[in-house]
Amino acid sequence: MLITNVQLLDGTGAPARAGSLRVAGDTIAGIGDLTRQSSDSVVDGGGLTLAPGFIDTHSHADRGFAGHPDALAAVSQGITTVVGGQDGGSPYPLAPFLDSLARGPVAVNVAMYVGHATIRTLLLGNDYRRTATPAELDSMKVLLRREMGSGALGLSTGLEYEEGHSASREEVLALAQVAADSGGRYISHVRSEDRGFWPAIDELLEIGRVTGMPVQLSHAKIAMRSIWGQADRLLAKLDSARAKGTKVTLDVYPYLYWQSTLRVLFPEGNYGDVKEARFVLDQVSPADGLLLGRFEPDSSYTGKTVAQIAALRHQDPAVTLVALIKESEGKSESVIGTSMIEPDLEKLLAWPFGNICTDGELDGRHPRGYGTFPRVLGRYVRERQVVPLAEMIRKMSALAAANVGIRKRGRLEPGWYADLVLFDPVTVLDHATPQDPHALSTGIARTWVNGVEVYQDGKVTGAHPGQVVRRAAVP
Ligand SMILES: [Zn+2]
Repeated sequence: MLITNVQLLDGTGAPARAGSLRVAGDTIAGIGDLTRQSSDSVVDGGGLTLAPGFIDTHSHADRGFAGHPDALAAVSQGITTVVGGQDGGSPYPLAPFLDSLARGPVAVNVAMYVGHATIRTLLLGNDYRRTATPAELDSMKVLLRREMGSGALGLSTGLEYEEGHSASREEVLALAQVAADSGGRYISHVRSEDRGFWPAIDELLEIGRVTGMPVQLSHAKIAMRSIWGQADRLLAKLDSARAKGTKVTLDVYPYLYWQSTLRVLFPEGNYGDVKEARFVLDQVSPADGLLLGRFEPDSSYTGKTVAQIAALRHQDPAVTLVALIKESEGKSESVIGTSMIEPDLEKLLAWPFGNICTDGELDGRHPRGYGTFPRVLGRYVRERQVVPLAEMIRKMSALAAANVGIRKRGRLEPGWYADLVLFDPVTVLDHATPQDPHALSTGIARTWVNGVEVYQDGKVTGAHPGQVVRRAAVP
């Protein structure tokens, strides 16, 4: 296949150049000023921009392949590789999960981390609100080493979540060392994104410093009123760690609101504490910024904010927050929480060692699952000019691959995999919102994975050429 008449952005950050790109099988065979051969099937790119397919380094798509093998949410925004097993949770055991994806592929490439909480709860069961004993830690190391053997990129933690939060720094560091010894790396939803943010960053940096392996601060955010405006301080801290040899990087999504559980707002587990609830609503996310995406005990609350529900119940919002958590005990709930401000986000998006992630699902309630990459390209590159286009494409492709240890993807280069996105930088824009989270973006014309087209003009093709991406063997 020869894709002609395109502006090539090769993922290195180099400026666009007009040309063509040839694909042979699943690989890029040539790039630049190419002459048509009789065997070529020609795709006219219509003057649009051709870039490496985007690599989503923090994705929850791995939970949704069974129902959504076409991965419309991902391919419609130009994503060709998703990295799952995030926030401390991964399928266990990983080997059969990856083998079944290799036998029955989905539309996108898949790489996985091993989840710390997954390993932890195998050993501790429901008794996870404590640090592991030395014997349990030894068993966790054995399990982790085995999981790493299936080709995982490294260890992921979700230390703000209940199952991981009680792990001591020593426990996490000891397991991180196992991932490092296996040639892996570390990615983390850190221990706190609000109250204990700075110690949480120190913990991440300590893991990078002691183990020597690359560490990634995942879905970076400044998510508490009293630390708003301190993105510069964070980036200076990361820069200074890098200057001393710690391989720290980050990923970030372009929204001022996150999605998680109501319970994550109370990391110490004091869910009944109304005083703490008042602190949460004052500092972490206001009651009118907490929008329920799902609430199993009473589905009529779905789509309403805690402020609206409090008004319905004639209650104080803090009392309502505590009551909602109590009512959802043992049931499922999710919440979208507004906690960040624009100036911090723009600084995080611009940091040269930070790449873009969605943190999204294939059928989630947060618009990031469908909108992330077009949102960055439309709103932050074109409209606000936070980062030049070629540099942002690098952050979505080559840098993303480097930050999680994926080889031969993320650049337009002969011999590399033909993961490609054809898009219009003039029109690309997200349309997904919390009210309409699955609205398709505009401006993403076509997406190819391993040389096979998976998306064209608003529709999936039904092809499932995705490959399992495993950690490169230890040298
Ligand atoms: Zn997370």
